[in-house]
Amino acid sequence: MPSIPLIVGNWKLHKTIEEAVRFATDLLKALNGRTEADVVLGPPFTALRPVQEVLKGTSIALAAQDLYWEDEGAFTGEVSAPLLVDAGCSYVIVGHSERRQHFDETNEKIHRKLQAALSHDLIPILCVGESLVERESGRNFRVVQTQLEQGLPRLSNETARKVVIAYEPIWAIGTRKTAKPEEAGEMHHYIRRFIEERFGVQAANGIRILYGGSVSPSNAKALMLEPMIDGILVGGASLESDSFNKIIQLACEGYQARLTGTQTRLSAGGTKFSGKE
Ligand code: PEP
Repeated sequence: MPSIPLIVGNWKLHKTIEEAVRFATDLLKALNGRTEADVVLGPPFTALRPVQEVLKGTSIALAAQDLYWEDEGAFTGEVSAPLLVDAGCSYVIVGHSERRQHFDETNEKIHRKLQAALSHDLIPILCVGESLVERESGRNFRVVQTQLEQGLPRLSNETARKVVIAYEPIWAIGTRKTAKPEEAGEMHHYIRRFIEERFGVQAANGIRILYGGSVSPSNAKALMLEPMIDGILVGGASLESDSFNKIIQLACEGYQARLTGTQTRLSAGGTKFSGKE
């Protein structure tokens, strides 16, 4: 089990270069060298390199919000894994629901993107999650299972641990309707069982599974108290350095409080992965 949480800010289509650089500078000042979490910033493509200049030599890492699977060629408008590495990224978000919804991102495309990221040593953050209709009709586990089955490439058990999975129920993204910690925990448990069946118990215990969907300073600690949640992916509330810093502090408090408790991962309660519903 990772000893510290992973907290990722996804800025989506926000921030000029100047705003992004100012944010990174302010956050570094606020954190003042404290690193009880792995913190990752996800600016738009244009601000990656300038933010990297601010972050270099610190423990804060850089994520891109998407990539294309080919390394280079006649693919106007696309950005590849080697270019992201060149810009200083160590993570890349793959299969965000906004990309699935607005840019025809299928599980097949996501699969290729994941493969491209891993082959260039970029850590992919694979986003999965169900819509409200899917949850209300009881299909939430099935939907996430399909996204995992079709999205994840064949990987060695060792490589599988490097993938980060973000459970982001679509109905919770940007809506201020967070999943209850126990609802999120139940899905995280299901995802971990899936990873265990496919890649073994070591991968299941080592892989980081994040929660995303309207995380704010008011719910970050409660979410991180859930035994299966290894970190959070924050959208709207990551756009202000004060609120993002508060989330980092509160998430760390929750995680530390949990570590002093007695729960263990795959022996904790929740829905067992059965491969079917
Ligand atoms: C996201 O975009 O990944 C996200 C979780 O957004 P928000 O925190 O705004 O719901």
